[in-house]
Formats: sequence, structure tokens, C-alpha cells
Amino acid sequence: MCSLPEKTEKTDGSKSCGVSDVLMPRVLPMSRWEMDQLGWDELDVLLVSGDAYVDHPSFGAALLGRWLVLHGYRVGIVAQPNWKSPDDLTVMGRPKLFAGVTAGAIDSMLAHYTAFRKKRHDDAYTPGGRAGARPNRASLVYAGLIKQAFKKLPIVLGGIEASLRRITHYDFWTDKLRRSILIDAKSDMLLYGMAERGILAVADRLRDGLSLCAPSVPGAAYIGKVDDLPAGATVEQLPSHEEIMGDPAKLMTATLAMEAHVLHANAYSVHDVENRSLIITPPAPLSTPELDKLYTLPFTRQPHPSYKGLKIPAADMIRFSINSHRGCGGGCSFCTLAGHQGRTVRSRSTESILAEAESMTSHPDFKGSVSDVGGPTANMWGAECSADPGSCKRDSCMFPGICPHFAVDQMRHIELLNKVRDVDGVKHVRVASGIRHDLALKDARYLRAIVRDFVGGQLKIAPEHLCDDVLKLMRKPGLEVFEKFLDRFDAECLAADKRQFVIPYLISAFPACTPGHMKQLADWLARRGWRPEQVQCFIPLPGTVAAAMYYAEIDPSGNPIPVARTDAERMKMHYMLLGEKPKGKPRR
Ligand code: SF4
Repeated sequence: MCSLPEKTEKTDGSKSCGVSDVLMPRVLPMSRWEMDQLGWDELDVLLVSGDAYVDHPSFGAALLGRWLVLHGYRVGIVAQPNWKSPDDLTVMGRPKLFAGVTAGAIDSMLAHYTAFRKKRHDDAYTPGGRAGARPNRASLVYAGLIKQAFKKLPIVLGGIEASLRRITHYDFWTDKLRRSILIDAKSDMLLYGMAERGILAVADRLRDGLSLCAPSVPGAAYIGKVDDLPAGATVEQLPSHEEIMGDPAKLMTATLAMEAHVLHANAYSVHDVENRSLIITPPAPLSTPELDKLYTLPFTRQPHPSYKGLKIPAADMIRFSINSHRGCGGGCSFCTLAGHQGRTVRSRSTESILAEAESMTSHPDFKGSVSDVGGPTANMWGAECSADPGSCKRDSCMFPGICPHFAVDQMRHIELLNKVRDVDGVKHVRVASGIRHDLALKDARYLRAIVRDFVGGQLKIAPEHLCDDVLKLMRKPGLEVFEKFLDRFDAECLAADKRQFVIPYLISAFPACTPGHMKQLADWLARRGWRPEQVQCFIPLPGTVAAAMYYAEIDPSGNPIPVARTDAERMKMHYMLLGEKPKGKPRR
């Protein structure tokens, strides 16, 4: 399908479409002129994104777009289109196969509103950092625009907004339950998780003239028939939309089941809504060789040239960082990762990460610092489950204690960091993505090495709270573990003669958290002389177990818990921690 474009770089070929030498555009086109330069008379796939197009593997549209090109498809990106008319979507013409939609790297409502539902004034994923470049509920709006622009073109939703809203979910910003975003967006299919396999299956099926929706598309949700699922497949019936609407506790049941589903390689889930069946197919994360192939594609690590050098804050922050793995064993109940990427850690090889570091050194803007080698939790690189995750009954690999089957050699991470630092042209390597402190305590050599060589003055740690009642619901380790970590960290800093700090991330007003709990936390901080800056008032994010707790006012076992629901209650607890009285607009 790919014609031979000008200004290209050769990459590994793709077996799936029989192309042995795909020529990769320097950047994916955003205009007809760029298509002409590539010799493309039409696109196969149009990706519409709520983020600016930054050609970096941390940006989903760039990652999936290049992945599709690698497999022989012609892909263009429309980033942050004007949503008052469909005109921006038509600049590259009707794509041959389908349009993919993502709201961007974060849910568009979270991007726009604070924990107290106030409008944010900036947007890190937009040129100039300005707010207002994407609409509220961007997935719905973009899907509507595509329908106006291209009648009957198949539409596939993806990205975190769609992923976490794939079944009935609680929407904090309207304080209501909403049905699957697939139905509200009147789209054909939704891909959850990282979606490389799913989007390729969709493209291949449409190219081959097959119907889009099929149980064989991995990591997908679509309206279909249970009878069409493979014979003998494991099928879990989730509470229906109507059952959840009628009984808040059913939201918890459904959310826990979705969280577990992401671990199961062969299981289907079915969620009925308005007499239709939403089929959710098994996840299919990439293997190490596939991740290696994906991440070594020739990303420019720059915003698209059409932005004419305007700064995009998120792009600047991650420009020279390396994503070493996906997934996190933590299973923290407030985190969207549990339902999106899941707890199975998938890691890139050392060779692939080194190749990326080497490629960075020839970048004209690289000054020698690799800002991060990590993932959701840096010290989980290389982790594996030595049992069968598919039959796992735990909701966290870390809580209430580290599972004996969670196998990770953290010193391999140190070896990796050392090797990256030894690459010609690299002067410093940092771990900016944060480490899991209970895991780090398992190996004194790990913490020593991190403190000596890879902390740039501050190490991010996320205890989130210090009271056991609250931590248990967060699935986070207790105060004694955090204090032990702080003692070891201080001792290692002293031994290394380095003045460095732990930056604790904390959450106020979590479900079951009361003013009494907040006072305990505030007192503990005061005793240490800490004035925390990284305090987030709890936001119940769609699709998380914590959101189900917040909405249903129960813990995962169904026991009633107190929940601060009004902004006044939440703000009071939030400012107990900050040691300030609320005046005017809250900060977050
Ligand atoms: S068995 Fe242990 S390591 Fe494996 S998925 Fe379950 S909790 Fe995680």
C-alpha cells in the first residue's frame, strides 16, 4: 500500500502485508502538500488527535501512525482540529480504510478541569501550552466531525479517554454514570490499552474487505453477538448498563472485573447495554521483539514542523526520555494504568534501549542528558510473573505485600542505566519516572546505585497517604515502609555525600479518608518539617476502582465507607494538608 515517498529512511520490513522494505516518512503528513511530497495520492488511515502531533514515541498518534506505516499503510494525522466545522478533517481527503480517534494522552475532561471542576488555563499537549485547543469530550466531538466529513467511514476510538470509558462508568465532571463511549460516539469499534495489535488487525481486515468487528481483533470493544465468539472461549458476563444504573454496587463489580480482564490473555467480557451486547476481546500486549521494533522507528522527537518551533510543554519534558517498559504491577486503585495497560509488565530489550540512546546522541538538540529511562514504575523494568497471571486472584502484585511470583532483578535496571550512561555522547542519565519504594527496599544495592548515580537531586516517590485505612483502599504500602525507605534514602545520600530529596506525591480526600486521617497526615508532615507541594485532591477517574468507591460509597468488598462528595468537604481536607485556608480559587 505504501508508495515510495521522498525524504525517507529505511526501516525493518513488515511481514503482515508482505512489504519487505517499507520507506518511512521523516514525519507523518498533516497536509495534502506533505502527502504529495511522499507520492501518496490518498491515505489509508486518518488519525485525529486531541494532542498536538509530536513525533515522539510517548505520543499515541505518532506511535500508532508509524506502526501502521511500518506495516505498509499510509497514515496522516489531524491534530487538534477546529471542532466548529469538519473542514480541518478533509485537508488530506477521505482515507481509504478508516479514521482513528483519540482525545489525547489524557482524558479531555481531566485536561480541562481541576479537581474542583474549575477550568484549567493551560494544556501541556498544545503548542504554546495554551488551553482551549480541544473540546470537552473530544472523542465524541471528533467522531461526530468525521461522520460529517466522510459519510459511512468506519470510526475506531482509542486512547486513554475511550479505553477507560469502554463500559458504563462514573463521570466526575457531571457526577453521573455514562454508558460506553463507543455507543455515545456512534463509532464502530473501540481499542483499549496501547492498541498496536488492535489497530493493525483493523487495518488488515478492512484492507482485505472483511467486516471490521470480529472477536479476533485483540484489545477491542464492539457491539456484536455472543454466539460469534470462538467455541470454548472463556466469556465473563459483566453487569449490564441497566443493572449498574439501578445498583451502584454493580459499578464496583464491573470495574473489578474489567481490571482483572486486562490480565487474561484469552477471556472475553460481555456488557449488555440497551438490549445490545458490547463484546470486549482479550488484551494482546506486544512482545519484547515487537516493542523493540516499535520504539526504534525513526521518530524525530520533535513537534511537527508546522508548529514552527512553538514550545509544547509535554514534548519538551519527555523529549530525551526513554520508555523502557509498559504495565505496572502496583494495581493502585486510583490509577488508570490498571484498566488500560494492566499489571503485566512488558519490557524492551537492553539492546533496543541502547540503540535509542545512541540515536539521541546524533539529535542536534541533545546536550548529553537522558532525562529518564523508565516506564510507569522505573524499577519494574524486566519484571515478570513467574506464575500464570491469567489465573491470578490478586488485585495488586505489590499489595498487601510483594507477591512471591513477582520476579524482578532490579540490579539489571542499574546495569541498563550504566550502559546508557556509557553511550558515547551521553553525560547523565536520570530516573525521573519514579520508583516503587517498597520494591526498592528489597535490594539495598539498587537504592544505593540510584542515589549515587541516577537521582538528579530529587526522587519522586508516591506514598499517597500515611493512614492504613486509606492506604489499604489505595493498595499502597503502609507508613512503616515509607519511613524505612526515607531512612535508607537519607543514609545512602549521606554515605554518597549528596544533598538530595524525596518528593512525596500525596492524595487528599480519597474515599474513606476523613478529616481525622488528613490531620494525621498533616501532623506527620509537620513533624518532619515538610511542606508538600505535590498534593493532588482526589479525582475519581473513569474506569478506576477508586471511582467506583467514590460513586458507590463502598470498598471493593462492598462494605460502606465514608466519602467526601462535596467540593467544600474535599477542599477542606485538601487545604488541611497544604496548611492554608482556602481563599479564592483553589490551586488544583
Ligand atoms: S501471581 Fe503475583 S506476580 Fe503474578 S500477576 Fe498475580 S500478583 Fe502479580
